[in-house]
Amino acid sequence: MKESALQYVWQHKLFVQQNLMTTDGQSVNVIDVGRLNSGGGPDFFNAKIKLGNTLWAGNVEVHINSSDWYRHHHQYDDAYANVVLHVVKKADQDVYIHGDRKLPQLELVYPETVENSLSELESGTGRLPCMSYLSDLSDIHFRNWKELLLYERMEQKVEEVRRLLGQCSNDFEEVFFRILFRNFGFSLNRAAFEALSGSLPWPVILKCRQSLQQTEALLLGQSGLLEKAFAAHPGDNYLSALNTEYHFLRKKYGLTPVSASLWKWLRLRPDNFPELRIAQLSAFLADDRKLFRELSKAVTAAELLRLLEQTRVSEYWQHHVQAGRKPSERTRKPGRQSLLGLIINTVIPVMTVYADYRGDSLRQEQLLALLDQLPAENNLIVRRWEQAGIRSTTAADSQALLQLYRKYCEPKNCLRCRIGYRVLTIESIKT
Ligand code: SF4
Repeated sequence: MKESALQYVWQHKLFVQQNLMTTDGQSVNVIDVGRLNSGGGPDFFNAKIKLGNTLWAGNVEVHINSSDWYRHHHQYDDAYANVVLHVVKKADQDVYIHGDRKLPQLELVYPETVENSLSELESGTGRLPCMSYLSDLSDIHFRNWKELLLYERMEQKVEEVRRLLGQCSNDFEEVFFRILFRNFGFSLNRAAFEALSGSLPWPVILKCRQSLQQTEALLLGQSGLLEKAFAAHPGDNYLSALNTEYHFLRKKYGLTPVSASLWKWLRLRPDNFPELRIAQLSAFLADDRKLFRELSKAVTAAELLRLLEQTRVSEYWQHHVQAGRKPSERTRKPGRQSLLGLIINTVIPVMTVYADYRGDSLRQEQLLALLDQLPAENNLIVRRWEQAGIRSTTAADSQALLQLYRKYCEPKNCLRCRIGYRVLTIESIKT
């Protein structure tokens, strides 16, 4: 067992509470376990413990073994001078502070089922370690927890927008497109798209976006992929025109392209090939319908989707997935799932901060409510939850479950998770 798990048992009073005794034989009555301290110093502040007939108010330190007190050199540390109880799993020696005050020690005893659940949650061998307990959870517990997770996830996204605003001289449209760049890479090419974005000054983008061809030349040229494609297919008229345009722009604005080696194709479906994605992003950027302004006014999820779906790539990219290669038979455009991802990860967070900036709280609520209108995302994590019996119907569900998986399950933060809490408390209640 880890020390953090023992702290959890103490914090949530999962231990056997009848007839508690210190190792010296004094009765123990835990009035208040104290407040968990995540910084330096004792583990719990302001606990209230009755030892025999005396009520003590002070701090509690938790260790697996008593001897850890010395291993961690607490015996001469003033920060531990107010420890009123040393809580341990095993009392393997007496402990003192400043050499003369002997600390009362309590060996925690807790049901075997709690121990088993804790080690099951801590082990996490690929599948969700709490999987076997999920069917025992009531809807209400899960619903409340999902609401909090969704809020936490949206807060993170909004914070990121605020951080970028500072870097973009409070220009919301630039922030919108900077985030769009990154999210166009989805998971595999996110870093490459970020590098591409970083290589392009916003004033240069603004100058080129009047023409779709010039925007494509700028983005594909800066990606390093245009040069590679043109070298491989010098007879392709479209590539030739784009290459000429790009060399003009590069010289004029003193640009340096990113390395073509940043881009990845491994296991990508043709619809996600980087060149096609860059061409689609160019169409969003060059869109003379003032996309940002229109999106900022759209009220329903259907309106947002329609606005994004109306954006058309150039004729060439409607029939290609890679520059210079044989034209594909079907028309290429971003799929529903991709557009959904862009709305959730780009449009809603940026517009939420934009609404906040304008003091429009009604609009902020509308934007959050859009997540209940949009369908759930379909990705590996959402499917994993589905296999565990937890289905997502709306984007609000899938976003909450993504947050849960990424921030709690993956880093094994089960002890900070409400499901983890339910698993442990249900088990202790059962005994
Ligand atoms: S973090 Fe929560 S949901 Fe995830 S595995 Fe642990 S207990 Fe289960």
